[in-house]
Amino acid sequence: METNCGFNTGILHKASPKGFGNRQILPPISQVTAYGYESMEELEKVFSHKSMGYAYTRIGNPTLTAFEQKMNSLEGGIGAVSCSSGMAAISSALLALCESGDEIIAGRGLYGGTIDLLRDLEKLGIHTVYADVLDGDSVRKLATEKTRAVFGEVISNPALSILDIRAAASAAHEAGVPLIVDSTAATPYLVKPFEYGADIVIHSTSKYINGCGNSIGGIIIDGGKFAWDFEKHSALAGHKKYRKMAFLLKLRTDLWENLGGCMSPMNAYLTYIGADTLGLRMKRICENADALARALSAEEDLAVSYPALPDHPQHSLAVSQFGGLGGGILTFRTGSKERAFEVINSLKYAFIASNIGDLRTLVIHPRSTLYINSDEKSTASAGVFDDLVRVSVGIEDSEDLIDDFLGAVRGSRK
Ligand SMILES: *Cc1c(COP(=O)(O)O)cnc(C)c1O
Repeated sequence: METNCGFNTGILHKASPKGFGNRQILPPISQVTAYGYESMEELEKVFSHKSMGYAYTRIGNPTLTAFEQKMNSLEGGIGAVSCSSGMAAISSALLALCESGDEIIAGRGLYGGTIDLLRDLEKLGIHTVYADVLDGDSVRKLATEKTRAVFGEVISNPALSILDIRAAASAAHEAGVPLIVDSTAATPYLVKPFEYGADIVIHSTSKYINGCGNSIGGIIIDGGKFAWDFEKHSALAGHKKYRKMAFLLKLRTDLWENLGGCMSPMNAYLTYIGADTLGLRMKRICENADALARALSAEEDLAVSYPALPDHPQHSLAVSQFGGLGGGILTFRTGSKERAFEVINSLKYAFIASNIGDLRTLVIHPRSTLYINSDEKSTASAGVFDDLVRVSVGIEDSEDLIDDFLGAVRGSRK
């Protein structure tokens, strides 16, 4: 198959150029628990990895394989493992790489669930050191001989800070560890992190990849370029013979398999169909978010943040790394919590919901929901303030969204 085709052609054709088993254009939903064999010898071969085959859906399933191959081809990796959720993907990836006594370097302002997970990992002896800004300098400063991974979000949410992937990757590589990125808010439409030196890409596929708000899921994709040092990464030593595939095979045949966080076949099917339209949705979503951000920033009493606006502090990085695209999330500060609530409550089209990446516009007040249990200091470093509104822009007509938001903002002006 021609590999230098465009983004949308690639999504539809690269991973499955001839469709599936019985000439199906879509992967059949293999909604079964186990697979039956003609003889015990055959099943033994599957279990000893001497022949390809499926045995039990927690370990492998053809619908999941189809989805994994699509995601792997989208990001340009050497293989992917699908998971029951974004959090299952992050926890599996980190637990596959780290043992008690090991350290992770992460940026502040991560997704709240990830911060909670990193706190859980402390109890297992896996320590996280935080950089206020995750970049080449901070990684170099924080790296020790205990460091096993650098973890960052390509676009953080709701702070909307952008990771300089190339800088973070080269500092991680100097320290002999991989850069793991959560690219959920960016999607491969904005950037393919492997091209900038990242080693492992994770998505919560519940968001833009599925796009239709119907399935929780996650995925881990391995770029296959990291040369593991099995003395340093002793967590992978048992899979040393697989060399560059060691991380994937440890997940596949050991850690991910045993944690039990597999994706369901139905969710893999729904997310596969969702991903088919990722390029169309992201194009529209980025155009709408850009138009809405510009319209709102003309209102003098709002402070609007959106990576494609020229006054975003990392606008030049958005230009060089995302080709000037800003993604689907914007935030604005209204001056008070009361006004933020009033704006949100008077919107006609936006759902008040704690999610991003749906094709419907979603809106939320992060401080009183996603960050309700966080203290002032950590909310401020996550870019969350009492007057902040977060918008996950959908595919509605931009004129309608702009009318709706401007009406709500102007109506709330005292
Ligand atoms: C939603 C989200 C997650 C967690 O994903 P789930 O599918 O909800 O488990 C992780 N990282 C980011 C950036 C997210 O937006």
